[in-house]
Amino acid sequence: MEKQLSMNQGTLYVIATPIGNRADMGGRAISVLKQVDLIAAEDTRHSKILLQHYNINVPMQAYHDHNEEQATPKLIQRLQAGENIALISDAGTPLLSDPGYRLVKAAHEVSIKVSPIPGACAAVAALSVSGLATDRFMFAGFPPHKQAARLNFYQEFEGQLATLVFYESSHRVLASVKDLQQVFGGHRRVVLAREISKLFETVHSSTLSELVVYIQTDANQQKGEFVIVLEGAEQQVNAQSAELEQVLKILLAELPVKQASQLAAKITGMKKNMAYKLALKIAAK
Ligand code: SAM
Repeated sequence: MEKQLSMNQGTLYVIATPIGNRADMGGRAISVLKQVDLIAAEDTRHSKILLQHYNINVPMQAYHDHNEEQATPKLIQRLQAGENIALISDAGTPLLSDPGYRLVKAAHEVSIKVSPIPGACAAVAALSVSGLATDRFMFAGFPPHKQAARLNFYQEFEGQLATLVFYESSHRVLASVKDLQQVFGGHRRVVLAREISKLFETVHSSTLSELVVYIQTDANQQKGEFVIVLEGAEQQVNAQSAELEQVLKILLAELPVKQASQLAAKITGMKKNMAYKLALKIAAK
């Protein structure tokens, strides 16, 4: 067990658990879970299976969205009394679209040491295989369930330059991707990471319009757990400008500026005035 911050206070360990493949449980996670006094788990029955698999026999207590208000002060008292507590969720990293925010915040407020035991996180795993820009990304969690609210939610990110990461459920993945297409346009690139680390894992990279067809035509692609990684506006604009320039260069060899720019805008989906300005520049060279 690592050194405690204050003489008598315990440590709150925030521990990631696997998102599918049990073997992704880290050695340090197992060892800390075996040594703590209490495990606060999102769903004790669910976590029991994982903990039994690793021979972890530590008392558990439920800590979820519906009891966190009452449970937090009691857990803080136990930490202040010197007990070490681990926080886990059903899968992945706690607090990432999972309970725990209130407890971690409360621990900081009374200077209790909070220590992460890093491991699986569906958002980061999906991002790492997306092939989309990772220098800047925004985790946006679950979109709303109802379409009108979901469209509004997606519209909030319209100008966002960073790569966007969403979680989505099997019930709504098709509707959600259709809404993404409506808001961001069919040309925007997207990666659908499904069932990461599980038997039917698929990582599908395409445009939004291609993804709608892919999900629609294969019912299996609507089953399981999903992360949607969407290209940011900057990457898309850069990619489209490069394509526009290439198309214009070919067309300008045969056609006048006006005609070439109109055709290029049609081919690439870019705005006519943008194509026209670029055509003038290329023609002047
Ligand atoms: N805290 C978790 C994490 O670190 O990823 C996320 C918990 S959230 C309640 C569950 C959502 O995460 C799922 O609906 C899905 O969008 C995503 N997710 C979890 N496991 C996944 C997996 N194996 N493959 C794809 N997405 C997954």
